[in-house]
Amino acid sequence: LSEKLQNALGKLKGKGKLTEKDVDIAMREVKLALLEADVNFKVVKKFINDVKERAVGSEVMESLTPGQQVIKIVNEELTKLMGESESKLEFSSNPPTVILMCGLQGAGKTTTAGKLALLLKKQNKRPLLVACDVYRPAAIKQLEVVGERVSVPVFTMGDKNDPVDIAKAGVEHGKKNGNDIVIIDTAGRLHIDENLMEELQNIKEAVNPREILLVVDSMTGQDAVTVAETFNEKLDITGVVLTKLDGDARGGAALSIRAVTEKPIKFAGMGEKMEQLEPFHPDRMASRILGMGDVLSLIEKAQESFDAKKAQELEKRIRNQQFTFDDFLDQLEQMKNLGPLDEVIGMIPGVNTKKLKDLNVDEKELDRIQAIIQSMTPKEREDPSIIDSSRRKRIANGSGTSVQEVNKLLKQFKETKKMMKKFTDMEKTIKKKGKFG
Ligand code: GDP
Ligand code: MG
Repeated sequence: LSEKLQNALGKLKGKGKLTEKDVDIAMREVKLALLEADVNFKVVKKFINDVKERAVGSEVMESLTPGQQVIKIVNEELTKLMGESESKLEFSSNPPTVILMCGLQGAGKTTTAGKLALLLKKQNKRPLLVACDVYRPAAIKQLEVVGERVSVPVFTMGDKNDPVDIAKAGVEHGKKNGNDIVIIDTAGRLHIDENLMEELQNIKEAVNPREILLVVDSMTGQDAVTVAETFNEKLDITGVVLTKLDGDARGGAALSIRAVTEKPIKFAGMGEKMEQLEPFHPDRMASRILGMGDVLSLIEKAQESFDAKKAQELEKRIRNQQFTFDDFLDQLEQMKNLGPLDEVIGMIPGVNTKKLKDLNVDEKELDRIQAIIQSMTPKEREDPSIIDSSRRKRIANGSGTSVQEVNKLLKQFKETKKMMKKFTDMEKTIKKKGKFG
């Protein structure tokens, strides 16, 4: 934890112009946040470079710290990447407007078809749903149920016909019955396969859809990017619907999909109910991606509570393996100054706050550790190896704890020191090999 904080606290105190170093430090956190949010690695790399270019040398606004300034730029760039403003459905000048739904099985095509029908009905359109999934058992029935829920007619021809013929007949049916929108629900597969793509291509050719909407499950993270790439290649989609954003998906897929396909994300599915479809808002998604660990407040808090110089000294001591119990005590106190521990941890990008609840950070434990260290003499703190069994007893009595607890702490301290040595050794190796910049 303290390592994380040290990263974040950075040397963000300079004023005037943002230096490359300022930006680097802040971007390290942002990069982590993006990767944790399932953003494609290549996209992250390019994005970070773009932001750096823009941020380095830019004037720091009076009301913002350099760290905040960088985050602001990141937020703006993220929004831009995802399309700046919301992207609307296109309608044919010669109705009906045909909308083809495609995507993998379980992505939410059928549900979204119903949601879309409801949304359009509210805009005084007269949608028709067409059931072209003839493979999955009960798929047709599912669309009929959905249609009933939103009071929109459903065209079916059973599961004995070819989906291409059904699509054609569905559009004809819509024309005859005054439907100005025809939404075609299609089959999906668990994985992308040739047959599925071919069938979709044939449907596309037969009914010339105005919109080809790829429905993507946002919970699938990185996989969503591959899916989007392939569907776009084969079908030249016109837009994307991201579903299940009500779950704890990080939303990074949205960013990657947009960057990879250059097609707009038009809608976001926010739940299983028919009303839960929203136009996609790039700015909100940017905040969501950034907000998953509240990077900004973490940097601020760390800045307030840490004395940067002190931290630098500590770093040096760790490097030289002079880390003592006094340093340990300092760290504990600084950690406490940051506020309730679980809150602090919750601000670290990538930490799942839901899981945090079960973690149950024990602040009393910290108090006990503090008491134990305070019961040590300065000499013992410098060199714990002199703490023999009689000293252990004395320390336990002095701190109101037990010998076992003192032993535990001594062991932990030893482990920590060992780990620190490993880290610094690793760092040296990396530097020697010239990896990681
Ligand atoms: P299809 O195979 O692509 O047609 O997917 P379905 O429409 O049958 O949806 C699969 C499952 O995902 C169903 O249980 C839906 O209720 C659920 N689902 C679809 N969209 C959303 C959404 O936006 N949020 C949530 N929580 N569930 C969704
Ligand atoms: Mg379906």
